[in-house]
Amino acid sequence: MKNITKIVDTFGREHNYLRISLTERCNLRCFYCMPEEGVALREKSCFMTSEEVIEIAQQFVDLGVTKIRLTGGEPLIKKDIDNILIQLSKLPVELGITTNGVLVDQHINTFKEAGIKSVNVSLDSLKEERFNSISRRNYFKRIRSNIDLLIKNEFNVKVNVVLIKGVNDDEIVDFIDWTVSNPLQVRFIEFMPFDGNKWNWDNMVPRKRILEIAEKAYGEKHIIKVKDRANDTTANYRLFNSVGSFGIISSMSNPFCDTCNRIRLTADGKIRNCLFSNSEIDLLASLRKNQDLKPIILESILNKKKQRGGLKDFEKAQFTQNENRSMVTIGG
Ligand code: SAM
Ligand code: SF4
Repeated sequence: MKNITKIVDTFGREHNYLRISLTERCNLRCFYCMPEEGVALREKSCFMTSEEVIEIAQQFVDLGVTKIRLTGGEPLIKKDIDNILIQLSKLPVELGITTNGVLVDQHINTFKEAGIKSVNVSLDSLKEERFNSISRRNYFKRIRSNIDLLIKNEFNVKVNVVLIKGVNDDEIVDFIDWTVSNPLQVRFIEFMPFDGNKWNWDNMVPRKRILEIAEKAYGEKHIIKVKDRANDTTANYRLFNSVGSFGIISSMSNPFCDTCNRIRLTADGKIRNCLFSNSEIDLLASLRKNQDLKPIILESILNKKKQRGGLKDFEKAQFTQNENRSMVTIGG
């Protein structure tokens, strides 16, 4: 297909940001993301090889993608991750990674070599016992020290915190306090429903509530709204005296669909044009048949719905029959 340089949907949204999931597997078992027993293992051949990841990424770049973020599952457990990072760094894109932080110390030199500036680390509690219980593993100390290591090495560090009522919502102020003297951005993420993760509207902490708690603790006038970047999914704030900042990702209560520029590629090579949509297109199968991927990518984006995957009456939905894959198999 000729003369196509951009991935634009029927609502005029240009998609220049690709999130690639490198694996469905993970060395943690965060209860809101992953079943305790892990995900069912599938044949290795179901998943993209490193070469296929690079090949597909290149095709997206040809269609105007300028930003790639690696995610998972846990991207740092992918065999060959260092090579993937180095190969992707040769593309004209801003490269980032979202990780649980456990293995950061083993790959930080590659991050530097690959020119990565931004590393997102998930940490849902500042209390060791609580974090280990949420993640069903015992890596708290290691993750905390790896966050410090990233800051020391001048990476732009964002800490993702999925807030769940009665689990960690009493730590909102502790997390914001952390940004006072540390150059990091804490991002509170509204809990989202995925396959079997016990989500309901009552245990989701909405943006409004997070701000109320912050305003009560610090006083409204001490919280400064930071200008959000174009296509930013985070509403950003900082305390008047802080080095770092905090933000809120309100996928549930206040979605950012109007400016969505994201495409997701799952570890098994399927394109998902929206986190809330179940429809997927199998890019990997087409690649293996030597088909031209570009029309397939464009078709997927042309099917993208205006908001939240086209779900009707979203605010009233209970997601009880939620057939959405678990986050770990989509790639957060
Ligand atoms: N393992 C890496 C990590 O934890 O950062 C990358 C993959 S993880 C699926 C990506 C992000 O999705 C994490 O920040 C995680 O907290 C978030 N996430 C997972 N399940 C979620 C849910 N049910 N609601 C909201 N965010 C979720
Ligand atoms: Fe693993 Fe990240 Fe999911 Fe936690 S949130 S289980 S670290 S993929």
